[in-house]
Amino acid sequence: MNQDGTPLEDNRACQNVAVLGATGSIGTATIDVLTQLNRIDPDFRWHVSAASGHKNTRLLAELASGLAEAPDRIVLSDNENAESLGADENQLRALGSQLEFGPEALISAASDKSVDVVVAAIVGRAGLESTMAAVEAGKRVALANKETLVVAGPVVSQACEKSGAELLPVDSEHSAIFQCIQAAASKPKKLILTASGGPFRNWTREQMVTATPESALAHPTWQMGPKITIDSATMINKALEVIEARWLFGLPADAIEVVVHPQSIIHSMVEFEDSSVIAQLSPPDMRLPIQYALTYPRRLPCPCPDFDRTKPWDLTLEPADPERFPALRLGFEVAEAGGTAGAVLNAANEAAVGLFLAGKIRFTDIVLGCHDVLKNHAHEADPPLDRLLELDRWARRELKKRFGLS
Ligand code: NAD
Ligand code: MG
Repeated sequence: MNQDGTPLEDNRACQNVAVLGATGSIGTATIDVLTQLNRIDPDFRWHVSAASGHKNTRLLAELASGLAEAPDRIVLSDNENAESLGADENQLRALGSQLEFGPEALISAASDKSVDVVVAAIVGRAGLESTMAAVEAGKRVALANKETLVVAGPVVSQACEKSGAELLPVDSEHSAIFQCIQAAASKPKKLILTASGGPFRNWTREQMVTATPESALAHPTWQMGPKITIDSATMINKALEVIEARWLFGLPADAIEVVVHPQSIIHSMVEFEDSSVIAQLSPPDMRLPIQYALTYPRRLPCPCPDFDRTKPWDLTLEPADPERFPALRLGFEVAEAGGTAGAVLNAANEAAVGLFLAGKIRFTDIVLGCHDVLKNHAHEADPPLDRLLELDRWARRELKKRFGLS
C-alpha cells in the first residue's frame, strides 16, 4: 500500500504466490482460483511459487502435479527430511521443485524475495510465525489465518506499519467489510458481522451438552476444515472474528455487532455516520474473498457460481443469543481487553477443540473451559510476542488441567 493508503500500482505481468496451508480447505480453493485466473488472462501469470502442506503429503504432491507450472519450492512442515515421505517422495521429486522441511521452511518461503503475495491459510496458532514473516517482509498477505490476529493483533499491526505490508482479509465477513468500506469510501461507524449460527442455531443448551463431533462437524452452509467448523458450532469462530475485525479495521469492540443470518449470503455489513448500512452479498463460496484479496483493487470473473435469483429467496436476520452461545460474550470481552487475552482465548480454544474431537470433553465444555482459563490468567496490557507465545503454552496446559487431563 502507498503511504496515503491507496493500493500499489500493479504493473507486473506475473505474481508469485506462496500458498501456505495449500492442502487445506482455503489452500485448495486458492489453487483453484489461481488456475482459473490464469485461464481468464493468459498474458498475466499467477505462479504458485511455494506451496506447503503438513501431514497430507500425498494431496500436496497431487495439487502441485496438477499445476501448469510446478512450484519453485514445496514445504513439508511436519517432515524432517525426504526419508520420512515414503511412497510420496518419487512424485514430489518428479516435480523438480526444491523440497524443504519443518516449520523454519515456512518462514523462509513466506519471506522469500521473489514472492509477491502470501496466502496465509495454515490453521491456528501454527500459522503465526510464517504470517509474521510475510508481514515483516512487506508482502501482500491474503489472511485466512485469523488466529494470528487474535493472538497478536497489535504486534501484527505495528509490523505492517513498519514494513508497508498489505493485510487483505480472506475471511468472508472481513472481506465483506473491506469491500463495503471501499464502496462507500467513508469511515465506518459500526461493523455488523453476520453469523450463520452453525449446526446448533436452534438447539437448546441442554441439547448442546450431548452434541457429538459428528453433529458439530455438519455445518449447514460452509465446507471448511474441522477446527473452524467446530468453532462455528460453538460460535467461538464469531468471537475470533470480532477480535480479528477489531485489529484489522481499528475500531473498538463497542463498534462491532454480530447478527445471525442463516443463509450465509450477506457476508457482513457496515454502518456509516449517516446511519446508512452497506452490505456485501454473494453465495457462500470462499473463492470470491480469496480472489479479491489476490486481485484487489481489480475485480475479475470468479469461478464461484451466481446465486439463483429466478426463485423466491429469503434473507433473514435475527439477533445473536449469548445465553445459548456464551462464546459471543467472550469474544467481545477479549476484543475490549486486548493485551494477553486473545492469545489465552485462542490457545485454550485450540486445546479444547482437540479434546472434544478426541471424545475427551463435552461440546459445551469447550467454551466453559475457555472462560475458566481466561478468568485464571493475569491480564497484561502490552505484551511482546515472546510473552504471548509463552501464555499460549500456559493456556493449553491450564485447559487440560481444568478437565483433569495432561
Ligand atoms: P484446514 O484444516 O482445511 O487446512 C489447514 C491447513 O494448515 C492444511 O494445509 C494443513 O496441512 C496446514 N496445517 C495444519 N497444521 C499445521 C501446522 N502445525 N503447521 C503447518 N501447517 C499446518 O483449515 P481451513 O478450513 O482451510 O482453515 C485455514 C485457516 O483459514 C484457518 O485459520 C481458518 O480459521 C481460516 N478460514 C477458513 C475458512 C474456510 O472456509 N475454510 C473461512 C474463513 C477463514
Ligand atoms: Mg468467517
